[in-house]
Amino acid sequence: MVLAMVDASGPDSPPAPAFGPDSEEMLRCIRCELRYVPSKSTSSLRLTYCSFLCELGDLGFSIAGLEHMEPQPKAIEAPAVELDPQPEPGEPAVVE
Ligand SMILES: [Zn+2]
Repeated sequence: MVLAMVDASGPDSPPAPAFGPDSEEMLRCIRCELRYVPSKSTSSLRLTYCSFLCELGDLGFSIAGLEHMEPQPKAIEAPAVELDPQPEPGEPAVVE
């Protein structure tokens, strides 16, 4: 016995989405001119920049960085020398 599936096809196939699987609008980064999806941007200004790097590069700072910004007493220290495993016995702590 042979089952002929003749009635399987519907009237017409559903229309394909115009913008792909996720039909989210893509924006163009004003800095690097890359097209990106705003919801995937790591920038706080995700409608403007594709990532926080572009935000940082364009503004000179990042909005997210400002939110967490706190006064740093000694911002200018040794560049990146963190090779100091031994804890200091007693810090003078002469701030002010
Ligand atoms: Zn960008």
